[in-house]
Amino acid sequence: KPDRSTGGLNNINNDTTDSKDLRAKLVLLGDSGVGKSCIVLRFVRGQFDPTSKVTVGASFLSQTLALEDSTIVKFEIWDTAGQERYAALAPLYYRGAAAAVVVYDITSPESFKKAQYWVKELQKHGNPDIIMVLVGNKADLHENRHVSSQDAQEYAEKNNMVFIETSAKTADNINQVFEEIAKRLPRPTPS
Ligand code: GDP
Repeated sequence: KPDRSTGGLNNINNDTTDSKDLRAKLVLLGDSGVGKSCIVLRFVRGQFDPTSKVTVGASFLSQTLALEDSTIVKFEIWDTAGQERYAALAPLYYRGAAAAVVVYDITSPESFKKAQYWVKELQKHGNPDIIMVLVGNKADLHENRHVSSQDAQEYAEKNNMVFIETSAKTADNINQVFEEIAKRLPRPTPS
């Protein structure tokens, strides 16, 4: 039996299922270099290792998250969808996705523009109920910030997205990204 006593912040690896348990396909989108792999690695392994690449071809990683109400969410995380060489396949990735995490780098206005491109793509081709999170990563590099939190927040609100600034390097707000998604996943209706 999974240990559910430790609250919402613990990632556990456990394959037990329960009627309350949820499964969600999640896609990461964003410019190359914004930190998508590092975010996944931080969430899945609790590490920051810029030399290690999580992305393996067109595969995905899975990670479970225990919520405070003892629901277990099993995420299937795809982080290859935004790669240029897979651009033509992108609609296949976000088909069936319950959530999309669109990442930019707070030091790069270009990456914020690219994030907006991905949001439009999702609005055109994604599931209409998709949960979208706008993530401004590399928040530890605030001295070099070129995208204001306010601009990003306003953009997110207009597009019905959750907005979070993170640092995969320091772990700031990484779990929160996945928790915000988990909270918004449709719960099965009790029978
Ligand atoms: P991806 O192409 O979007 O998957 O980006 P990566 O995860 O490979 O990261 C690109 C580079 O950004 C690497 O050199 C990471 O070390 C660096 N990086 C990723 N996240 C952060 C962060 O939160 N802070 C800082 N300072 N560097 C980061």
